Amino acid sequence: MSIEKFLCLQDATIKDAMGIINENAKGIAFVIDDQKKIVGVVTDGDIRRTLLNEHDMQASIQKAMQSDFVYCIQGESIDEARTKFSEDVKVVPVVDVEMHVIDYMEYYPNLRVPLAQPELIGNEYKYLFDAFSSTWISSIGGYITRFEDSFSNYCGMRYGVATSNGTTALHLALMALGIGEGDEVIVPDITFAATINAVIYTGATPVIVDIEEDSWCIDPKEIQKAITNKTKAIIPVHIYGQPCDMNAIMEIAKTHNLYIVEDCAEAHGACFDGKKVGSFGVISCFSFFGNKVITTGEGGMCLTNDERLNQKMRILRDHGMSKERRYYHEVIGYNYRMTNLQAAIGTAQVERVDEILGWRNKLEIKYREILSSVKGIKLQALNLPKREKIAWLVSICVQKKYRDKIIEILKNNAIDARPFFIPLSEMDIYKKYAKECVVSKRISKEGINLPTTGTVSDEVIRKIRVLIEEVLK
Ligand SMILES: *Cc1c(COP(=O)(O)O)cnc(C)c1O
Repeated sequence: MSIEKFLCLQDATIKDAMGIINENAKGIAFVIDDQKKIVGVVTDGDIRRTLLNEHDMQASIQKAMQSDFVYCIQGESIDEARTKFSEDVKVVPVVDVEMHVIDYMEYYPNLRVPLAQPELIGNEYKYLFDAFSSTWISSIGGYITRFEDSFSNYCGMRYGVATSNGTTALHLALMALGIGEGDEVIVPDITFAATINAVIYTGATPVIVDIEEDSWCIDPKEIQKAITNKTKAIIPVHIYGQPCDMNAIMEIAKTHNLYIVEDCAEAHGACFDGKKVGSFGVISCFSFFGNKVITTGEGGMCLTNDERLNQKMRILRDHGMSKERRYYHEVIGYNYRMTNLQAAIGTAQVERVDEILGWRNKLEIKYREILSSVKGIKLQALNLPKREKIAWLVSICVQKKYRDKIIEILKNNAIDARPFFIPLSEMDIYKKYAKECVVSKRISKEGINLPTTGTVSDEVIRKIRVLIEEVLK
């Protein structure tokens, strides 16, 4: 639209200005002197307020205009200009250094595409409200058991022990297994730090090993090499939805009499050899943080088939308090309980877990269709033997030199993407625990997690493709 359609001379009447605003349909006019220098702006809201204040339509526009207003100066950067806009200011004049109006600018805020987003569209609110109205909002209440039963059942395990988050689930599992000082626990180099932190909380020594080139999961060959007579447990992490090679890992565990504690925080519903992850370890740990496949806000769960470990975890979760004698503490425990409110949300999420995994899977297929022909993009491995991954965060690799530029260009276009985890072996506080990790160091610098939410449209994926191609060319 021509700038002329916004201009209103300062000796015009309110009625004149209303005509101009009506014509441009942008809700604003710029008031100028006869040199075309701007003296004010007037919005339809300003006019309404002036008329209500008993001025009439023939009054001077100067009665209604704001002489203190927002404008952009010609040549200003886009980023600078963007800061001028707000909920109330959607159209601003562009002026030269002498305040002559030369153009206008309109801002269409880009809808941000988040990396992850909880989807709470089933019975979540109903159950949450039910739990709330029951006043059982702490950690006793029917939803805790319902959530524990339905989720453990979903994973094919006998017992579920809900916890305050995924990190406390890992710690609880290791404590229940009696792991502590003098023991070694093997963890992968690529994981979220909670995996190794939980080991360190117990006083045991973590041993960090490299990952597989294709799956990005812990490498069984590296586990084998890292075993000593102090090794007590292995924590395989099913990373970015991809199951670890559980055949090889279970075999090693059997040979060396080691515990397997699965970290399933990123792979609810994934399968190995037709069996769900979480059904291999003596204990398996899940997180229900807001960005995971299903969520309770904050929350976690330990699964086991072992009745003794189940009881032990329940006691440790509840201050180490005896189940027979209240307020008698048998062991030094923790408060790692989940609330009934969280469990209410979780119960509703479990009802929809297959539906959620369904759209996630379709979304990943769409991404593959649109991105697979781009030279320079490597998609996460699909259909590795026996492994049925799920789509937690759709993940790709590009050459290291392009990785951060791609994340940046996406961010500038309001698309959230994030780099892979920094390898534990590259962080000062953990590097002393690491074996040689060549693969993880490389892949961590190539990997990008892309937005994986129910609202990512084909159009967004095509836009992501165009933006990536711009960097790769
Ligand atoms: C999210 C996550 C955790 C920790 O879960 P919280 O609920 O955030 O404590 C542990 N391990 C992995 C691999 C994770 O991605």
